[in-house]
Amino acid sequence: MENVIIIGTGCAGYTAAIYTARAQLNPLMLTGTQPGGQLSTTTEVENFPGHPEGIMGPDLMMKMQAQAEKFGARMAWSNVDSIQRRDDGSFAVIAGEETFEAKTVIIATGAAPRHLGLPDEKSLIGHGLTSCATCDGAFYRNVPVCVIGGGDSACEEAVFLTRFASKVYLVHRRDTLRASKIMAERTLANPKIVPVWNSTVSAYLTDEKGEMRAVTLTNLLDGATSEVAVSCVFVAIGHVPNSGFLDGLVDKDENGYILQQPGRTATKTPGLFAAGDVADHFYRQAITAAGQGCAAALEAERYLSEHA
Ligand code: NAP
Repeated sequence: MENVIIIGTGCAGYTAAIYTARAQLNPLMLTGTQPGGQLSTTTEVENFPGHPEGIMGPDLMMKMQAQAEKFGARMAWSNVDSIQRRDDGSFAVIAGEETFEAKTVIIATGAAPRHLGLPDEKSLIGHGLTSCATCDGAFYRNVPVCVIGGGDSACEEAVFLTRFASKVYLVHRRDTLRASKIMAERTLANPKIVPVWNSTVSAYLTDEKGEMRAVTLTNLLDGATSEVAVSCVFVAIGHVPNSGFLDGLVDKDENGYILQQPGRTATKTPGLFAAGDVADHFYRQAITAAGQGCAAALEAERYLSEHA
């Protein structure tokens, strides 16, 4: 029986691990399918305090992992399917054939990239459709590519892709970017980035090998369509919280974000805590996720001492 299982290894999960490990609770972390979380798929992080020169997202996550392991946190490569609460108040955490047992659980599963919902979308992932410029950008040198979205992620991806691509179409459904001012200005000042306003990608067009060759753009103001040749589409239209495996144990808002008790990381189930992007649709920053990871660890520690 573990004292605490932390599900997810992003900023929230690693911070919870550092705190619970230093509190001698010997935490077990379950990695999920994206070890390191969202920052492991980004480039430079300029706003995480303590790194005035910026730090690459994957480097930051490796440092957090090392810090958690230094204090004794353990990691298991598991993807959780469901959690059950037993009559004695403990939890069974089920991941495939394995069942882990714990007195407390911290959910830090973050959020996954949203897609447009076009019919052939899933089959195109890896064939010219992706949500990770850091992972796939270098494959598309000297060819035109497209980024969909108008937030910080879309801008960051578009700017990063200009290192490789000949041209980056930034397709946004409105005529103003949602991104922070500094990112928006940097993006629009880049000569390789071509904004396509008030538009959406309405179809992906493939070649005879099934690889992306173009997109159909639809202007949302007049309905006009056009075909634009691109070798890859980077979708950056936000995220969906990874909370689907928790049905019944937590309350969620209409978008699936876990509802915490006001000012706390506690959920409606005693001993079950939620931290980071899986419960935060408002701030969604690395540092706020880390802060919630700390809070969840402190709450789990207090819960364990009260229920010893
Ligand atoms: P976001 O801020 O929610 O932006 C999503 C963008 O996608 C919006 O422009 C939205 O359009 C568009 N969109 C949503 N659904 C769409 C659909 N079905 N079809 C077409 N477009 C759609 O998401 P994000 O950019 O991933 O950022 C998430 C959070 O992380 C934000 O708080 C952001 O500040 C933060 N972040 C920070 C940094 C950084 O500071 N370095 C980097 C990346 C992300 P509308 O604008 O019309 O809603």
